[in-house]
Amino acid sequence: MTLVKKSSSTNNANHAQGGSLRKGLNRIATATINRRGFLIRAGVTAGAGLMARHLPFNVIEPAAAAEPVNTVGPANTELKHTVCSHCSVGCSVDAIVHNGVWVRQETAFDSPLNMGAHCAKGASVREHGHGEHRLRYPMKLVNGKYQRISWDQALNEVGDKLLQLRQQAGPDSIFWIGSSKHNNEQAYLMRKFVSMWGSNNTDHQARICHSTTVAGVAQTYGYGAMTNSFNDLHNSKAVLFIGSNPSEAHPISMLHFLHAKELGAKMIVVDPRFTRTARFAHHYVRIRPGTDIAFVWGLLWHIFENGWEDKEFIAARTYGMEEVRREVAKWTPQKVSDVTGVPEAAVRQAAEMLAKNRPSSVVWCMGITQHHVGTANVRSLSILQLALGNIGTAGGGANIYRGHDNVQGATDVGPNPDSLPGYYGLAEGAWKHFAKVWGVDYEWLLSRYGSKELMEKPGTTVSRWFDGVLEKNDYVDQPSNFRAVVYWGHAPNSQTRLPDMKAAMQKLDMLVVIDPYPTMTAAMHGRKDGVYLLPATTQFETQGSCTASNRSIQWRERVIQPLFECKTDHEIMYLFAKKFGFADELCRNIKVVNNEPVIEDILREINRSCWTIGYTGCSPERLKLHMHNKHTFNPTTLRAEHGPCKGDYYGLPWPCWGTPEMKHPGTPILYDLSKPISEGGLPFRANWGVEYKGESLLAADGSTNMDSEIDTGYPEFDHIFLKRLGWWAELTPEEQAAAEGKNWKTDLSGGIIRVAIKHGCAPYGNARARCHVWNFPDPVPVHREPLMSPRRDLVKQYPTYDDKAAFWRLPTLYKSVQAKDFSQDYPLIMTSGRLVEYEGGGDETRSNPWLAELQQAMFVEISPQDAMQIGVQTKEFVWVETPSGARLKVHAMVTPRVPQGTVWMPYHFGGWWMGEDLRKNYPDGAAPIVLGEAANTGWTYGYDAVTMMQETKVSLCRVVRV
Ligand code: SF4
Repeated sequence: MTLVKKSSSTNNANHAQGGSLRKGLNRIATATINRRGFLIRAGVTAGAGLMARHLPFNVIEPAAAAEPVNTVGPANTELKHTVCSHCSVGCSVDAIVHNGVWVRQETAFDSPLNMGAHCAKGASVREHGHGEHRLRYPMKLVNGKYQRISWDQALNEVGDKLLQLRQQAGPDSIFWIGSSKHNNEQAYLMRKFVSMWGSNNTDHQARICHSTTVAGVAQTYGYGAMTNSFNDLHNSKAVLFIGSNPSEAHPISMLHFLHAKELGAKMIVVDPRFTRTARFAHHYVRIRPGTDIAFVWGLLWHIFENGWEDKEFIAARTYGMEEVRREVAKWTPQKVSDVTGVPEAAVRQAAEMLAKNRPSSVVWCMGITQHHVGTANVRSLSILQLALGNIGTAGGGANIYRGHDNVQGATDVGPNPDSLPGYYGLAEGAWKHFAKVWGVDYEWLLSRYGSKELMEKPGTTVSRWFDGVLEKNDYVDQPSNFRAVVYWGHAPNSQTRLPDMKAAMQKLDMLVVIDPYPTMTAAMHGRKDGVYLLPATTQFETQGSCTASNRSIQWRERVIQPLFECKTDHEIMYLFAKKFGFADELCRNIKVVNNEPVIEDILREINRSCWTIGYTGCSPERLKLHMHNKHTFNPTTLRAEHGPCKGDYYGLPWPCWGTPEMKHPGTPILYDLSKPISEGGLPFRANWGVEYKGESLLAADGSTNMDSEIDTGYPEFDHIFLKRLGWWAELTPEEQAAAEGKNWKTDLSGGIIRVAIKHGCAPYGNARARCHVWNFPDPVPVHREPLMSPRRDLVKQYPTYDDKAAFWRLPTLYKSVQAKDFSQDYPLIMTSGRLVEYEGGGDETRSNPWLAELQQAMFVEISPQDAMQIGVQTKEFVWVETPSGARLKVHAMVTPRVPQGTVWMPYHFGGWWMGEDLRKNYPDGAAPIVLGEAANTGWTYGYDAVTMMQETKVSLCRVVRV
């Protein structure tokens, strides 16, 4: 659905966009695939297949047969295996390269993840690699204009300024925004780089898409990740999609779900908006934004009332369900209906469908996570799956679809402000572990920081860095405010409160962008100088591993050499480390060739360090073997049935325990007792002690993995436990030397893990999942009205949290924001989401001519009733005005997809600023083809009470005619 006729600039209300679009299309006139071919291969092809029955017959034309995948043509032509860099489904791409030029791409029919399908974004990644709108050389802002400079000048000027600020204000005065689009090795190197700089002020996209998921499921089950896989949905008998619209956000994942639906699986979709996913549903439930916990407790009310819960599972494998029962008992059908807006019968129907069609799965995404109660939302769904006994079983699970292609991996091993790679935390023991792995003295690392306290204190988050600039220093919980920010592969328009961000950008001493694209940062800052743009390569100009949403780790081959003057991110890190004087420490165990740290060596260092999450068995050699033998893996189980990977699960989904030599096959389904640990089974993790207030936290007797030699719950393994069990002697003398005084996470030999698994035990213990998380603001989730609630009558009964003084180093407001009633002046609920054509902040995809043609203008969806009241029609410009004072000039799209009283906007647009087109502010030729208002310019204040996730799913606005 688009607002303007495709390929028609005369119909385009934004003529500038139309002109650019034509130019973009002209540029690629010599490309190797025409528009029709693109649309056929795009999934628009998957979509077309799925949608065919809804189209009139004259719309469907016969498709010409594609050339065979492995026909690579004449000499000097190579087939390179890579992975789409847009979303976390992990679709493989076969790239055909002739004389070093990427001439064609195919869809990788042999990948068990995408089975020959791509969505529109994946089908056009060649244009991302060979992008015409990319940054080509380093640039510096001089008198408001970007000028070309050399890499030497850029590294020296930026480096000198950062060193000067370090000297004046300390290492914590810089904020380093990393990327969820870096591969695992680059993300890991970035955390190491910032640690050696001497700060924890680093973060990345996961903070503002799934940090609440990571915290919520990790504190309930043990690991912060999706439990099953897209493929495993084949086994589901019912699936609840809540706050998730995979038809647009993760299109190829629908391939797997629709297969299950063909086999009879029931489909429930809960969303305020009737999405493209909702139209497939057997049961669509329209919910008031921000009332997910009330709805989930409503489901559980019926489940408990009817005795549909899995009593045996609850008794053996969970802790604290009684407290949940007490909270759920308050949520009678009538109360749920009043708070959520969902009819009583619809809640009961959803509960019954889930309970009577087991195993049932729950899929969620940012509709659940991006709330000021995001972590509590996540926990309520995690508990629902425990109550139904749907965890640790094929067809069940908490299937959490991550966003960017490597947001899972970058979270696992990358730049997080509260942890070293592998979720090791920031305590002294974690630093000592990594000091040893990195081959540096702990004391030297300590000397890089402002103090030991700052070394062990979580940094600020990407969602709030600008408050770290603007806030009075007295209220900032570190010595200095931020003086410089480095945007290293991150879109600013994916963050809320852009007017505040712009004010902070103006106040900084220096602003640096390192990215293949200039991003909206380059255009929005309003500065005359002090801005640098450094061109980085895409993932197609380097190699390395990335982790799909299901924890499968895939190896991307380098498709083409770096274009223009772009450098790989890890080369840029190395060059800055040289400038800062710690290049030797950064790469002590990593070979460096032509200033580029060798990616395989970085992964080997990850293998040697990240025992906590089993990133240890996935050596570069094993991952490459999987990529070249994709065809041997079963598309339902993901297990290789023959060939050199026989017995492995595709991409060695983590945890892949022990050393690579141990040949652990990976763990396809977390917490699955039906398999031995050595074959991918696991219990819940013993991560919170063995008892709490006298109650055991360990699993009940008999609740253990197949082949376990311990027939009850047990704690995590360490040198003492191993000795008590009499298994210490099974370590080799070398392993004993390394493991003495250590636990399974810090034993660098891997011996403790090896011996535990040999006896059928999980290295991390065998515990109960927690329904009651005593260390969270709400140990059992409770409904809290949104900060911008239109239901003022409910605010008193379900208030938000108290304001916090120092939370991730910043004061954070809750009640004082909620106290003001904006609902009279701003009567519409505002929510946001994704489009199939674009991804993230959209700089890459809006610069892609194939995609730009599909969606040419920013819009707001508004119901026919509200549109009539305002007097506006589709394609007319309106102002969307929000309580922050921001106003967005966007097209109206009148549609019943949204209910009366609610509007919806996509968040991928950028490059306009409250009605002003900023195209002139970009470097020449580097503006995306399509620009538009960023939804987040208007977004209001609100942050999750555990992770500082930003609120983007429920606020208030008014819409007026332009
Ligand atoms: Fe696959 Fe996602 Fe890429 Fe689409 S964007 S091709 S679903 S990985």
